[in-house]
Amino acid sequence: MTTTATPVLLTRRSAPTHPAIPDLDRLNDRFESAHPVEIIRWAVSMFGDSLCLTTSFQDTLLVDLAVSVDPEVEVVFLDTGFHFAETLDVLRRAQARYSLHLRVERPDPDAADVWASGQEACCKARKVDLLDCALAGKVAWLSGLRRDDSGARASAPIVEVDRRGLIKVNPMAAWPADDADTYVRDHDVIRNPLFADGYTSVGCWPCTERPAPGADPRSGRWAGSTRTECGLHL
Ligand code: SF4
Repeated sequence: MTTTATPVLLTRRSAPTHPAIPDLDRLNDRFESAHPVEIIRWAVSMFGDSLCLTTSFQDTLLVDLAVSVDPEVEVVFLDTGFHFAETLDVLRRAQARYSLHLRVERPDPDAADVWASGQEACCKARKVDLLDCALAGKVAWLSGLRRDDSGARASAPIVEVDRRGLIKVNPMAAWPADDADTYVRDHDVIRNPLFADGYTSVGCWPCTERPAPGADPRSGRWAGSTRTECGLHL
């Protein structure tokens, strides 16, 4: 843990107390070329049980990295009700392999859906609100966001403060794709079989298509609309 930087004390609406964190700029500089495991190790040591991990189970890369540091880390899955069967199978296989400390959030039965209410309301009810619920009482969270996901994510920081005032850690943001691919092979990371079927980013089935050749990996998400993010990372 960096202790030399000027501490920044964060304010939250309703929150457990947590330690002052080091200056974000210094922290991002320090982690720019660090391995994701080093970044996760810092987050676990800094935030302990007040840290969780979120994943869409398009693969188990972040999960594999995180449980190698802390097998008890809470793993949050937002079950929108519209995941591909293949994604839910990745979840089942991950649970069998890692015995995850899993938390599944589900929307109300009458939650907005994409057909009746549109994408924005659907994502809010089935993703954003669920994440808000999962993060209540937490101080920090790990996400699998990467800069090479899309142009919109190209300058994503490694450590940031989210709109709730929580610390959001993106351990893989700056991880070179070749290094990540090597890790996937060496650790037999579970991948969604849809990747072998032309998909390059897997979300809910009503809003996920195969992208055009050479396009951003996430360009198949909400294809045909101007939407590029569900709101979880805003
Ligand atoms: S990605 Fe599509 S189906 Fe999934 S929550 Fe958002 S709008 Fe709804």
